[in-house]
Amino acid sequence: MPLGDRYRPDPKYLDLGVEGFADPVEAADFPERVLRFRNQRWAERVGLGALTPGEWLEHFARFAPLPHNLPEPLALRYHGHQFQSYNPQIGDGRGFLYAQLREPGEGSGEIGTGRLLDLGTKGSGRTPHSRDGDGRLTLKGAVREILATEMLEALGVPTSKTFSVIETGEKLQRHDEPSPTRSAVLVRLSWSHIRFGTFQRHAFEKRTDRIAALAEHCLAAYYPELAGADDAPLALFRALRPRMAELAARWMAAGFVHGVLNTDNMNVTGESFDYGPWRFLPRFDPTFTAAYFDHGGLYAYGRQVQTLGWNLARLAEALHPASPDAPWQETLEAYQGEAERALARAFLDRLGLAGADDARDAETTGAIFGFLTARPGLPFQQLFHDWYGGEASAARAAESPHAALYEGRDFVAFREALDEHAPKPGVDATLASSVFQRARPVDMLIGEVEEIWSRIAEVDDWSALEWKVADIRRLGDALAESHAS
Ligand code: AMP
Ligand code: MG
Repeated sequence: MPLGDRYRPDPKYLDLGVEGFADPVEAADFPERVLRFRNQRWAERVGLGALTPGEWLEHFARFAPLPHNLPEPLALRYHGHQFQSYNPQIGDGRGFLYAQLREPGEGSGEIGTGRLLDLGTKGSGRTPHSRDGDGRLTLKGAVREILATEMLEALGVPTSKTFSVIETGEKLQRHDEPSPTRSAVLVRLSWSHIRFGTFQRHAFEKRTDRIAALAEHCLAAYYPELAGADDAPLALFRALRPRMAELAARWMAAGFVHGVLNTDNMNVTGESFDYGPWRFLPRFDPTFTAAYFDHGGLYAYGRQVQTLGWNLARLAEALHPASPDAPWQETLEAYQGEAERALARAFLDRLGLAGADDARDAETTGAIFGFLTARPGLPFQQLFHDWYGGEASAARAAESPHAALYEGRDFVAFREALDEHAPKPGVDATLASSVFQRARPVDMLIGEVEEIWSRIAEVDDWSALEWKVADIRRLGDALAESHAS
């Protein structure tokens, strides 16, 4: 086989049967195909690193099938709650499932060991679910998705990866970008594209048989240790719930605001995906909102934990018909406690500190929030940059451009809380990295995002984007020295 044995195709979606779950579609025929981003790290991990430039375009702009994979693209069917209103008119309207493959390792439900991954698209053309949309993605949207996914991956948030971006030479009209604006097709590598909204659609259509089949499929494909469970819908929900708690916690600790936490943007592995109007926090502010159209602040930074709980309740409702006697309410209630524990672990992790016990960890989270609240002038990422490893960074923090903020009663409480935790093994290696030798953190604020885009828009200069991705990866590699533990 030309791709070698690292390429492990596994089009599991076909086991589910396409009927009722997806619609075969064709990709748009684009006037141009210019490679703008190739995620070589992940391409190598999934055995696609040796594709020639021509082959890359053939697969990720023309969507010629990959060997032994899906014979044709599948637009997936789903519904969803959008800003808490049920919308039965959505589905893959500008994307499709293109291929499925295994990462290296023995198939399991753990990250990094043989997971079933999807290559899915955004901006690949119209489908039966497009309604009056053009099926396209703007190049700016694609650039923004690269930046979000790279930063989240570096900060240890479970996220889809941007695998490929190819500019496609069309002129698009958008009300939220100066138009006409450039077009692109993006391929994402994602740990499933089965959404809460996929179950909601089958519940809406009163297809209990499909809810049950989909739940069984999800266990077999994403939670293999639970495959064949007596009550597949309940087993799936119980396995997913702590992952959602973990996801919300990791977003919070990353200072990330997803922006559109609709149930069609939540998947069955708890992996973050689909990046539209996202932002990173400039400063700690629970009311900070990413989407300009989110007037009520429904998906504000500080509401993300409870929003994922709300979404889990909608998933439980959709699973209920296939398991009417299961203890759904009780099962759902465990989320809040899981989210609080996950929040503590995630913030400690961002500080390179090990957890102690639950009560102590919760107190430390309180001290961190207390300090951030008391210092509204402190850039969010700066705190984690200055205090990585706790005591190990005290001398660095004293040299911080914001060192003057590190004093007073709230600061003392923060420092004392840090001292209750051992540094994670590997902290010294993390701190030795060039990114921690600088005064300021690697950040991803809107001004820089717009600056990177304007270089591309005005003079077709991609170097700022390339430099930023390389810098984010330096941060990720540095943090990985101590994340692994
Ligand atoms: P999103 O807000 O990106 O999660 O998209 C919500 C729904 O709108 C999904 O069903 C998308 O497929 C659909 N959609 C978004 N943009 C377009 C577009 N330009 N053309 C067709 N469908 C779209
Ligand atoms: Mg979406």
